[in-house]
Amino acid sequence: MRIACFDSKRHDREFLSRAASTRPEDQWVFFENRLTIESAEQSRGFDAVCVFVHDSLDRATIAKFAGFGVKLIALRCAGFNNVDLPAAEEFGLRVVRVPAYSPHAVAEHAVGMILSLNRRFHRAYHRVRDSNFALEGLLGFDVHGKTVGVIGTGKIGEVFCRIIAGFGVQLLAYDVHPHPGVEQVGGKYVPLDELLQVADIISLHCPLLESTHHLINDDAIARMKQGVMLINTSRGALVDTEAVIRGLKSGKIGYLGLDVYEEEENLFFEDRSTEVLQDDVFARLLTFPNVLVTAHQAFFTQQALEQIAQTTITSIGAFARGEPLAFEIKSTS
Ligand code: NAD
Repeated sequence: MRIACFDSKRHDREFLSRAASTRPEDQWVFFENRLTIESAEQSRGFDAVCVFVHDSLDRATIAKFAGFGVKLIALRCAGFNNVDLPAAEEFGLRVVRVPAYSPHAVAEHAVGMILSLNRRFHRAYHRVRDSNFALEGLLGFDVHGKTVGVIGTGKIGEVFCRIIAGFGVQLLAYDVHPHPGVEQVGGKYVPLDELLQVADIISLHCPLLESTHHLINDDAIARMKQGVMLINTSRGALVDTEAVIRGLKSGKIGYLGLDVYEEEENLFFEDRSTEVLQDDVFARLLTFPNVLVTAHQAFFTQQALEQIAQTTITSIGAFARGEPLAFEIKSTS
């Protein structure tokens, strides 16, 4: 198989090449640029494309792939909101993804954000390096005894519940499909409204769907406790960023941790340190002392990258041998 890999960074090349060593018959070509309708030209003559979260696989791009002989789209991520699945089916392309890869990576990052925001590690780091050993402004709180609300208790949310339960918190959860693991660690499912009203810390772990778009909006924020901590390591558009900025300005939101941002496609995964930031909403977020943003790095652990690469190579091997594709996604329409 000839595979064109888009939006590939050094770590993608390293982990995919290592996993691909079991299939010397394949030829991988790594492109650093993202996949767009224009760069789709680069897939001419390839059997498969390997893509990531910010690559755009709309109908026109998929039609181009079909014309070039591409037969397989391998997503090296779980989410597939960037793929026009009905178009892939129409043009006879199969689509595979990596449905699960270290839920621990994302759950641990969310817990890390809670501790950093609370104890201001990010501020203390700079202070101490500047020989400023004052404690003023670094006062935190015991997580023990607080009420933590988890929205979405699938693979990642459940691991998050298990970790945070170890702090001795009151654990509340909301999910459209409750999972027994949450109650096993002392959690209690409650209606969303109740969770929003009583939680001191809220962590989002549900997918981005039409029904969850801007789940955290002005109305939801108005119901929250004064000074609430909000953590989003899931998908940017779960949160209405402008509403959250209003919440931060009023003090309703006391702490905000974001690993994802609704307009992140134009920002994240690139070094833009010499550019003028054009996104005024994002720029405003960065002015708050109680906001911590990481650039979609929650998944970024050795174990997760190994699993992503391994699952991708397994799918490519199965496709090449004409075997069933365990991680195939199909359009529901
Ligand atoms: P999952 O499918 O195992 O779990 C999602 C859970 O959300 C399910 O239990 C589902 O029932 C629940 N859910 C669906 N609609 C809901 C709603 N309206 N309200 C409340 N809950 C709802 O997914 P997962 O593997 O746990 O991943 C969760 C999310 O994490 C993904 O959708 C993805 O957006 C995000 N993610 C982020 C990163 C990162 O690096 N930041 C990496 C991987 C995944």
